[in-house]
Amino acid sequence: MLQYKQVKSILNKHKKRDTWFLDDYSVNPYEGCSCNCQYCYVRGSKYGENMEHGLLAKINAAEILDKQLANRAKKEQFGFVAVGSSTDAYMHQESTEKITQQLLQVLLKNKFPVFISTKCKLILRDIELLKAIDDTAILPTDLAQTLKRGLILSVSISTLDEKISTRLEPGTALPSERLQLLKQLKAKGFFAGVNAIPLLPFISDSAIEMEKIIIAAKEHDADYILMGGLTLFGNNVADSKTLYYKFIEQYDPSLLPKYQQLYGNNFYTSFAYQKQLKELADSLCKKHQIRNSIVA
Ligand code: SF4
Repeated sequence: MLQYKQVKSILNKHKKRDTWFLDDYSVNPYEGCSCNCQYCYVRGSKYGENMEHGLLAKINAAEILDKQLANRAKKEQFGFVAVGSSTDAYMHQESTEKITQQLLQVLLKNKFPVFISTKCKLILRDIELLKAIDDTAILPTDLAQTLKRGLILSVSISTLDEKISTRLEPGTALPSERLQLLKQLKAKGFFAGVNAIPLLPFISDSAIEMEKIIIAAKEHDADYILMGGLTLFGNNVADSKTLYYKFIEQYDPSLLPKYQQLYGNNFYTSFAYQKQLKELADSLCKKHQIRNSIVA
């Protein structure tokens, strides 16, 4: 059940710009996420337990963001704001709560550029608002020459297998629906691509599966595709590593020893795996002539 909370601060300033998504700031309209992905990195943080039932909506988020952005704008500290970095800004509760929509109105008013990655079709509700942000946002000076867009959109896809997606990402649109969403966003003129992070080891990280995702992204007009590995946090009952391993046990128990070898007691895969995944993504993207970063 959704509960409400007042916040004192909403704008997070990163120490360093995110290398994948280029955001300098993030805002989260909700705590928890009803998309309920079993691998979600938030599971393992203080918000991870019971993500769907412990949902909190930040009811005064827009008012607080307006104050915080006005201060930053006065000092000309413009930078991309990721809307929904630890929640999906368009999960189904947003259809009635409209906190994301209010945040976007404030971002538009203060002329900040925006990055959104989503697995939900509700983003189509805010097309006009998103267009206005794209047209009027002020970019940080070092990105202004290369990017020239005030809005970056991503649809997030970890696997094209709809049965796996239904089990692992129960509160989201199906991967095929997300690809259709991408096509719709592109048809509206947005800069949009696929965020294939995380790819699932031994499920969607093979050359064949990655190539399928790249081809699907291209067929749906993606401007770019980002590909990266899976992080599994925590060993507690509601943490992503525990939940994801439970899924693997049911899906294909023969994969479990492979996962145990890949992760051991760690939350990250080995450097060698990450390097191999990156090299494979680079060569497949080159083969299919699609950019594997937001900025060329
Ligand atoms: S949509 Fe994103 S934030 Fe929400 S549960 Fe899934 S991975 Fe986590």
